[in-house]
Amino acid sequence: MNQDDLFKKVIAHAKEYGFIFQSSEIYDGLSAVYDYGQNGVELKKNLRDYWWKAMVQMHENIVGLDTAIFMHPTTWKASGHVDAFNDPLIDNKDSKKRYRADVLLEDYAEKLRQKAEKEIAKAKKRFGDDFDEAMYRETNPRVRKYLDEVDATLQRMARSLEAGDLNDVKALIEEKGIACPVSGSKNWTDVRQFNLMFGTQMGSTAEGASTLYLRPETAQGIFVNFLNVQKTGRMKIPFGIAQTGKAFRNEIVARQFIFRQREFEQMEMQFFVRPGEELKWYEYWKEARMKWHQSLGMDESYYRFHDHEKLAHYANAAADIEFKFPFGFKELEGIHSRTDFDLKAHEEHSGKKLQFFDPELGKNYVPYVVETSIGLDRLFLAVLSYALQEEKLEDGSSRTVLRIPAPIAPVKAAILPLLKKDGLPEISREILNELRFDFNVQYDEKDAIGKRYRRHDAIGTPFCITVDHDTKEDHCVTLRERDSMQQERVPIDSLKSRLLESLSMSTLIK
Ligand code: ATP
Repeated sequence: MNQDDLFKKVIAHAKEYGFIFQSSEIYDGLSAVYDYGQNGVELKKNLRDYWWKAMVQMHENIVGLDTAIFMHPTTWKASGHVDAFNDPLIDNKDSKKRYRADVLLEDYAEKLRQKAEKEIAKAKKRFGDDFDEAMYRETNPRVRKYLDEVDATLQRMARSLEAGDLNDVKALIEEKGIACPVSGSKNWTDVRQFNLMFGTQMGSTAEGASTLYLRPETAQGIFVNFLNVQKTGRMKIPFGIAQTGKAFRNEIVARQFIFRQREFEQMEMQFFVRPGEELKWYEYWKEARMKWHQSLGMDESYYRFHDHEKLAHYANAAADIEFKFPFGFKELEGIHSRTDFDLKAHEEHSGKKLQFFDPELGKNYVPYVVETSIGLDRLFLAVLSYALQEEKLEDGSSRTVLRIPAPIAPVKAAILPLLKKDGLPEISREILNELRFDFNVQYDEKDAIGKRYRRHDAIGTPFCITVDHDTKEDHCVTLRERDSMQQERVPIDSLKSRLLESLSMSTLIK
């Protein structure tokens, strides 16, 4: 399946099997806003739990928090979001389509990078075992030309954005001959800055109301509570505070399904460290987070780091963990060394001290912060698009299967009476009532057994438990495993322990 087709299939599958619906669909939908259906909500919850377990439960020095979406408006002045949370936008005058100027340039650079990679792959094939890739990258004139052009473009863009020189960003787009993907024309407007925060009003009368923002990230709720948590939890540096929750951004170009939404969910952890130790912790968390991703069982080649050329106003180092989505490598998680920027800014704007007394050093300081920030919806999309597979079977037929890691799957087991009679439904329901204390299980008696297996393959149910006439005699059921489709007879009494072996999240974390 080519990548475009795969992406279309993922979107269609997500809808058909109750994972994701367009928001307000009966009113023709709301752009870049989505709802999670009966299976989606389970998968999303499991991914959130898996993150929480790995970050909070498995770390003595990380605690959780749940702060409000509304915050005092000065928060966003202090954090820099009012003045600097902007994207540079540009319109094509012919198609009337709007783009992020930085994304146009990054896509241009990515195409060149891919050309270089193609050359390298060709050479690798030609030279076989003797091929010295590093040397080829450095010395082959064609590859060098592409890669130098990538560096020059991204560096100039970073400089211009940093300096607020939007004219030069436009000039760069024109010089590179970048055309609108829709109209094919190079007829561009000037580049303008656009603030991504949604504003709203709190208060009953127009005069008395104050303007609030819907939070564009969950991190600031952690920063303003830094001392509350540190003091009441008697936390010692280094320590972390983790939170999951909704964030809102008025994205200029919202496309690619749930990858870029206007309302989405973040899972963030702010790790407070001694000044001067932040880069050590930054490296630590880069590696720890990559390991966590790989524990989900997706192939290593689907991940890569991307170190930032253009650092945000608060950072002294930043990298993304990118995932190979069906539309290419894109950011899944950000790891940022945020310095003491946020806590210092909140000290200045609130007049309150946000410092830690370090007993070992015998002094107060404003801690430095390393952040890990992942979009839950993007993680969902990564897992769903990787898991969805069309499989040819030995008998020539095919099946659609979602190979979601078993502990994360929405439904853990389906209990299926072979027939709707002879007491088989009753035995099945007994099993259901026993297992549902520990697992999200479903009872299903409609259609032939093969069809029921397929239905559960398509939503990623790792186990099907079939009750047949022999069950009445031997008190055993047939346990069918989703990926291998292998079946074994298992005593009803040992079902729970058998399922726990495969379904516990600890098997992934370990
Ligand atoms: P991008 O460059 O793709 O706009 P970002 O660098 O602005 O992302 P961060 O501010 O670092 O993103 O946010 C942390 C994480 O939140 C991202 O890694 C991503 O997974 C998620 N995220 C950000 N914006 C969105 C969005 N509009 N929809 C869904 N997830 C998002």
